[in-house]
Amino acid sequence: MEKTREDLVGKMKKKKKLVRMVLYIGLVLVLGMVIYQVRSAYLRAEAAKAAEAKKQAQEEARRKEEARKKKNEWVKKDGKSYYYGEDGKVVIGRYIQEKKIYYTDDTGAVVRTVDGEKPMVAITYDDGPSQFTDDFAQLFKKHDSAATFFEVGNRMNEFEEEAKTITEAYCELANHTYTHQNLTRVSVSGMHNQLNKCDRKLREFGEQAETILVRPPEGAVNETVKKNIHAPIILWSVDTLDWKSRNAESVYRKATTNIKDGDIILMHSLYESTLKASKRIVPELIDQGYQLVTVTDLAQFRGGLKNGEKYFDIKPVESEKEDQKSQDETTTTEEEKTTEEL
Ligand SMILES: [Zn+2]
Repeated sequence: MEKTREDLVGKMKKKKKLVRMVLYIGLVLVLGMVIYQVRSAYLRAEAAKAAEAKKQAQEEARRKEEARKKKNEWVKKDGKSYYYGEDGKVVIGRYIQEKKIYYTDDTGAVVRTVDGEKPMVAITYDDGPSQFTDDFAQLFKKHDSAATFFEVGNRMNEFEEEAKTITEAYCELANHTYTHQNLTRVSVSGMHNQLNKCDRKLREFGEQAETILVRPPEGAVNETVKKNIHAPIILWSVDTLDWKSRNAESVYRKATTNIKDGDIILMHSLYESTLKASKRIVPELIDQGYQLVTVTDLAQFRGGLKNGEKYFDIKPVESEKEDQKSQDETTTTEEEKTTEEL
């Protein structure tokens, strides 16, 4: 009996031990599985992170490559050309590349190009702005061309809307004094006052040229004016006498006959007859093979312009010496009549 009890107690102990062992193994298994699951989840997260980092690195490399490509490079987009400068940004405004001048709109899309190696002439209009100024500006814009408008400062407010369209059409605003003053008949300080006041007005209306060009009223220049003027003095080589004839046919003939590379053509933006003539002159000169450019652009690849220097025309650099002679002959017939009208 004793033995049997002892056996029973022994069996029960063994059973308890077995149960503990089973529980222990079970616990180890469960723990193992939990650890395994947690570890897998962790590894999956790590792998996803690594993949994301790789993707970002690839994207960054692509962006860098794109930026590198667009440095000092032309890009075509929707049929328009853009130039990316040294800083990788689109260049906006007027700029020079090789032997060409480019003009862009506000987005940097090129709107006009001047080829420095092809013939060109500069059409100039004095005494404006006037009620016709916008029509002149649109005429040039329509033909991918430009002109220089030598404006009278105190007229800019009177024809504010018209004057605004000149720089909007990529044309050039230039100085014709503030009140159409003959500069040989004022003091040096009076002269500076006339020119500075007009310059300020032209800047107000969007002129961005580094140096604003000057055409002294009546073409009147003496040594005092030359010595004290802080800008190039632009005269002309072709006088249409439009103020005198007020005849579109006559103006058209004068502005389109025997025109040479580098000529500067003089007209006035005050007359309807001049506008009528210009509508024929612009396409005709383009047909003759000329680019119609601003005076500043005409000089860009032809030695530039010096302050206090007179220019009647601006020939290509190669033939500069030959033309020195023609520069010495003074071409004067004047706009006194226009003066009176102002
Ligand atoms: Zn004038």
